Amino acid sequence: MTYRGERKHSKKREAILEVIRSTECHPSAQWVYDKLKPVIRDLSLATVYRNINLFIKEGLVVSCGVVGGEERFDGTTSPHPHTICVHCGKVADTPIPQGKTMEMIEDSWKIERPPEAGQNFSIDFRKTVFYGICQDCLNSAR
Ligand SMILES: [Zn+2]
Ligand SMILES: [Zn+2]
Repeated sequence: MTYRGERKHSKKREAILEVIRSTECHPSAQWVYDKLKPVIRDLSLATVYRNINLFIKEGLVVSCGVVGGEERFDGTTSPHPHTICVHCGKVADTPIPQGKTMEMIEDSWKIERPPEAGQNFSIDFRKTVFYGICQDCLNSAR
């Protein structure tokens, strides 16, 4: 019984991680749940939340912050900037400028020495988010 239960548990875990990794939409827990519910009948939203929180602790998933009241998640864990549309809530990766690699961008973000505000504070990472209106919303506003 226990063995079956654990297998089932890890199958859900894998499916949840797979869904987050296979999309670029930076999904919410609800989005992941809606995607998997038709396939995994006994899935609960609480299970999705619990697993995502574990993934974050394990460094497999990062949080993009709360957009329109829903926390959004990213399966790409290396630091990269996001654009967030304040109109429709779309979270997108900022395209890498021509002639630059992700490594170059990450290098330029590295904090060699904490700025004044960072004194008496050990900085581990920073996040860059640009807020604005996405292309789709711009087009439909015309
Ligand atoms: Zn938009
Ligand atoms: Zn991202």
